[in-house]
Amino acid sequence: MKVFVLNSGSSSIKFQLFDCVGAPAALAKGVVERIGLAGSRLTCACSRAPHNPSCPAKRVAADVPDHATGIKLVCNCLLNKACGLLDRLDEVAGIGHRVVHGGESFTESVRITEVVIDAIENCVKLAPLHNRPALMGIRAGTEVFPNVPQVAVFDTAFHQTLPRHRYLYAAPLEFYEEYGVRKYGFHGISHQYVARKAARLLGTGPERLKAITCHLGNGSSITAVDSGKSVDTSMGFTPLSGVMMGSRSGDLDPYIPLFLHTEAGIELNRIPEVLNKESGLKGVCRLRDVRDVLAGAERGDKQCRLALDMFVYRLAAYIGAYWVILGGPDAIVFTAGIGENVPEVRRRVLEKFRFLGVTVDEAKNAENAVDISGKNTSVRVLVIPTNEELVIAQETARIVDALDAAGAATRRDQSALPRPP
Ligand code: ADP
Repeated sequence: MKVFVLNSGSSSIKFQLFDCVGAPAALAKGVVERIGLAGSRLTCACSRAPHNPSCPAKRVAADVPDHATGIKLVCNCLLNKACGLLDRLDEVAGIGHRVVHGGESFTESVRITEVVIDAIENCVKLAPLHNRPALMGIRAGTEVFPNVPQVAVFDTAFHQTLPRHRYLYAAPLEFYEEYGVRKYGFHGISHQYVARKAARLLGTGPERLKAITCHLGNGSSITAVDSGKSVDTSMGFTPLSGVMMGSRSGDLDPYIPLFLHTEAGIELNRIPEVLNKESGLKGVCRLRDVRDVLAGAERGDKQCRLALDMFVYRLAAYIGAYWVILGGPDAIVFTAGIGENVPEVRRRVLEKFRFLGVTVDEAKNAENAVDISGKNTSVRVLVIPTNEELVIAQETARIVDALDAAGAATRRDQSALPRPP
């Protein structure tokens, strides 16, 4: 079974084609960029390309006025006979879409229907920058593959298990009741994936796992997982809150935006830009990539050192809070760009938990090994590469299989009906 995974942005579509017979395997991945703009192009890496010099894909410039044209361009590339990834478009059995915000409507992945599209549209006001492009991708998918089931996999769904006293803000309750103002949480696909992998590595069932999962990329969030379920998470109503990030502020006093408007004359409509794109590491030391910040700190740059101190402190503060909430985890799990690749950040964060018995094997930490726990550690420390696209492919294949099984059962029932006289 071939499954297409699409992650649509306003002017881009990231895609992967999976073969989901048995353990899913990625056949090709790439991106269509600058959709609707001058200079649009497709970049594709095919799993067979290293052995296949006639693969034309790598980089193709093309006119791509909209998302449907982008998907058609990807299909033409994947149909290339020399690669043999796809002989016919009807080999695609399902299309999985990453949808950032499912609000309170979705606790799991679903087949996309008109009702589901309406519900995703209802969440556009909560995440306009993400849900609007996802809908563009879904509509384009329907246009190019009218008869193929499409599935939505939500970043918020995993966090729908947060108890009410944790997802509510201490503000007038009408804000929640009338406007849906509450903590939703994000990166749920990643937190759920690494939590399940951690359970497997610890030799326990996911329903028994207590873990603190740290998704540390440009956007970062930390989740407390109890009995395999998300019970608290650092991002909130939007992906702006929580820990300090590459260019996002994370938590700050809620009065600050208003103060900046009245005292510093920053226009209200510029404040989201300032807090999303000019804050975090970048706000403190002008660099948002942790590799650059580490290099700066090594050279003795004071602002880079300060930014790193702040970053590590805020991560540790959330991990400490969730340690208490969980009554002690079984594991701390690191994932995403920084979590998977930056030993220095892991070492500095974990150092703060030495008094709770956490130890780290420095050699394994330096190699980004999967289990970096030290001798006699109180809690296992794991580094697990995330794979959100794989989860979307698995979820899509699972739902398509269920649809096929239901279709076969209906056909069986109908054939068992007595024939009309
Ligand atoms: P996002 O998906 O949120 O855009 P990523 O998960 O790619 O972000 O993480 C980006 C961050 O991870 C950057 O700060 C970068 O420094 C760091 N990072 C990514 N890859 C590596 C690597 N191979 N070595 C060191 N740091 C890395």
